[in-house]
Amino acid sequence: MPTEVRSPITGDVIGSVSLASREAAAESIGRAHEAFLDWRQVPAPRRGELVRLLGEELRAHKASLAKLVTLEAGKIVSEGLGEVQEMIDICTFAAGLSRQLCGLTIASERPHHRMMETWHPLGVVGVISAFNFPVAVWSWNAALALVCGNAVVWKPSPKTPSTALATQALFERAAERFGGVPAGLSTVLVGGADLAELLADDPRVALLSATGSTAMGKALAPRVAARLGRSLLELGGNNAAIVCPSADIELTVRAVAFGAIGTAGQRCTTLRRLIVHESIHDSFVARLKKVYGAVAVGDPREESTLVGPLIDGQAFAAMQDALAAARGSEGVVTGGERVMVSGCENGYYARPALVEMPGQTDIVRRETFAPILYVMKYADFEEAIALHNDVPQGLSSSVFTRDMQEAERFLSAAGSDCGIANVNLGTSGAEIGGAFGGEKETGGGRESGSDAWRNYMRRATNTINFGNDLPLAQGVRFDIE
Ligand code: NAD
Repeated sequence: MPTEVRSPITGDVIGSVSLASREAAAESIGRAHEAFLDWRQVPAPRRGELVRLLGEELRAHKASLAKLVTLEAGKIVSEGLGEVQEMIDICTFAAGLSRQLCGLTIASERPHHRMMETWHPLGVVGVISAFNFPVAVWSWNAALALVCGNAVVWKPSPKTPSTALATQALFERAAERFGGVPAGLSTVLVGGADLAELLADDPRVALLSATGSTAMGKALAPRVAARLGRSLLELGGNNAAIVCPSADIELTVRAVAFGAIGTAGQRCTTLRRLIVHESIHDSFVARLKKVYGAVAVGDPREESTLVGPLIDGQAFAAMQDALAAARGSEGVVTGGERVMVSGCENGYYARPALVEMPGQTDIVRRETFAPILYVMKYADFEEAIALHNDVPQGLSSSVFTRDMQEAERFLSAAGSDCGIANVNLGTSGAEIGGAFGGEKETGGGRESGSDAWRNYMRRATNTINFGNDLPLAQGVRFDIE
């Protein structure tokens, strides 16, 4: 069944794609499972070669795929390019990793015994992705899943299907150059929540990696848990930064601007709450207001634009509702109004909003996926940390300070409770080398670098007896005739 695809830039229809039926989706999962049975036997460094070739295809088509990201997700040019660069980076990382999928060798208490861990491929990995990173999220999962010996079935956001289909086409080119890739190793299923549910319920899907809102995670995770399957959840954030009296103000303003305004406030790591020391609060807010008033909002294809459109009218309405709620709690709002962009009258553009709040009210504790930055004051650093952590989400966080004690306290066990905690840089714009993800309602998953690959494999503990006796562990005796 075909469905229309719209660009948030103009609101116009830019094409149509076919939706996968539930029957076709179930068949794809079956084919992926068959592909996995072959692929798991291919040596891991050889599997890495396929991902290296995928990286080459992405390098060769970086500009055109980035253009599609801009057209379909509304990202400004450099962020569209950055998204594809991130895909290239994870392919480089994963190709190297394919020679390092190693386990421990462990000392045994029994004479002439050795223990070790072996990591094996897991099965079919289902990937569910959000509109705001329409292709990078797939690559964080797929590059690792493929070198780990798995097959991938991807259900992208129904708002960004063309970028997904283009990425799949690049994968197919890499697969053709590689030769002998089992059919169905990577599949795209275009559709909505019903297909995500199908992936969650199917026992052939060994791991469901789901990126999107906390509401989506709360709907899908129990379904995977009901069959005792594995899930990796990358859900909503409500990220904050603490600005201390010793902060480098110009650096902080730049970091706050990119974190809060960049990608039109539509990153999971977008800076949404700013906790500023009372001694610098007024001057800092005045400085920020200048930036907010001047930042170029417009067609993301223009080089000068820094803030593109919201994804759709619904996102704009959610932004207005949040601002109304903030006003209702004595928040003072600067900006936030619709910006009409010539030639893009059906797109939803908004001036980023700065909201001075008397405290952390209900609306501040919620993630609104739009460029709204709530600013609050603090007097005591411990109070700032308490405010920082007093939200249901736990993705990314920052402190701006030149005081070593404050920086270390923020990073300590009693500091930020997020999966990402930074010093003197913003909450967004992570690199692929580190593990990415967050705590609490953000879902607890970790993707991308470090040892996140272990999510995509199963661990076997092996004990080998190279002696002639059979000593039992813990000194147990079991002597038979
Ligand atoms: P969304 O939750 O509306 O959709 C994400 C995906 O889940 C889509 O593929 C959608 O079809 C599917 N989906 C949505 N609701 C579902 C349901 N009830 N049952 C089954 N499937 C469902 O999110 P979005 O608007 O596309 O993206 C924005 C959200 O994603 C924000 O909350 C943002 O913080 C989050 N996000 C998180 C990360 C991260 O790494 N933590 C990264 C990007 C986006």
